Amino acid sequence: MRHLTLLGATGSIGDSTLDVVARHPDRFTVTALAAHSNAVKLGDLCRRFRPRYAVLSAPDAALALQREFERDGVGTRVLAGPEGLAEVATLPEVDTVLAAIVGAAGLPPTLAAARAGKRILLANKEALVMGGALFMEAVVAGGATLLPIDSEHNAIFQCLPSSYARDPAGAGVRRILLTASGGPFLARPLSELARATPDEACAHPNWSMGRKISVDSATMMNKGLEVIEAHWLFGAPPAAIEVVIHPQSVIHSLVEYVDGSVLAQLGHPDMRTPIAQALAFPDRIDTGVAALELPRLAALDFAVPDLERFPCLRLASEALAAGGTAPAALNAANEVAVAAFLDGRIRFTEIATLCATTLERAQLRPLVTLDDAREADRDARRHADEWLARRPVQGTLAA
Ligand code: NAD
Ligand code: MG
Repeated sequence: MRHLTLLGATGSIGDSTLDVVARHPDRFTVTALAAHSNAVKLGDLCRRFRPRYAVLSAPDAALALQREFERDGVGTRVLAGPEGLAEVATLPEVDTVLAAIVGAAGLPPTLAAARAGKRILLANKEALVMGGALFMEAVVAGGATLLPIDSEHNAIFQCLPSSYARDPAGAGVRRILLTASGGPFLARPLSELARATPDEACAHPNWSMGRKISVDSATMMNKGLEVIEAHWLFGAPPAAIEVVIHPQSVIHSLVEYVDGSVLAQLGHPDMRTPIAQALAFPDRIDTGVAALELPRLAALDFAVPDLERFPCLRLASEALAAGGTAPAALNAANEVAVAAFLDGRIRFTEIATLCATTLERAQLRPLVTLDDAREADRDARRHADEWLARRPVQGTLAA
């Protein structure tokens, strides 16, 4: 029986995880559920899964949920704030922590889980982008196990030998090929991108996801962050990681070996598959995902990404090459930019502009402690906010 803490329980990954967990009550029990502020949804989930702990990082929402549970006789104990997140990520009775908070806020509890030697199922790529070497060192020092949930990285993990030890050359790996759908704007005329609306950006052709990662998919910053994620997870030099556009999202990624073999993992674009693979590893369990009927697939297409259309992909490569706190700065700038775009404060094409400007202005330092990452994150957010305040056209954008 695995005892689970689910960070980001009210989100899209949270939904998919609890769907898989509910199919296997003999294998998984939910010890803690955590989210930001959605007390209504977290309350419903607690009534259904009966965890010992619930956490809301927003203190007011946590207090409201606690009162409600006292009134209704729900036995779940409610914790609050970042301290509550760290507490449930390190509980002695928990062996598995599923990290599915969106953004930099996920780093501290995930790092705490690493130091506590948990089995970490990682969806929160921003934590790894921001924490980089620091996070990977904590995994080793804490004796933690890191299993990727991000579909591409989960696919790569499945295509690598079980003895793989973050050494591509030693395993005969020549390249890691990360597939990318290209998102909703793959074929839209470049001249129209400035007018793209948040709802259009969030309408992903293949995946149903939270709004932040959906916008990241539309700019392809998501793939840029995933290149950085792959670098840390698999110990691959940037030159050995290649992005390939594959609009159908059936091949989730590939590993090319020196003998010419290329191994791929395929499946419907449904996060329950990688989540179940990591939850049950090394076993395989049912997920409710339909079988892939190959004759029904009309075609599998591939192309090289166009960096003029997707400048964020280039920015992420530059941040990875610069090293140190550069990826943390880029990630923070992107979080501010995506939030501003979703709020109707900037145009779609300005996400890349704001990220590039912030990265240029960032004072890059070596990444030694969590404070270095936090400072880079804070500085980048301040630069990005200043840029937003100076932006000549304010208010809601006309389409
Ligand atoms: P989402 O927006 O649907 O959910 C985010 C979750 O994080 C919510 O439960 C929210 O309450 C919680 N959260 C946000 N800020 C928080 C804070 N400060 N403290 C505590 N909790 C906080 O996002 P999602 O689509 O589920 O994505 C979650 C993570 O998984 C992201 O890092 C994303 O990149 C990654 N991911 C998602 C998918 C997908 O299919 N959705 C695929 C691969 C990777
Ligand atoms: Mg992905």
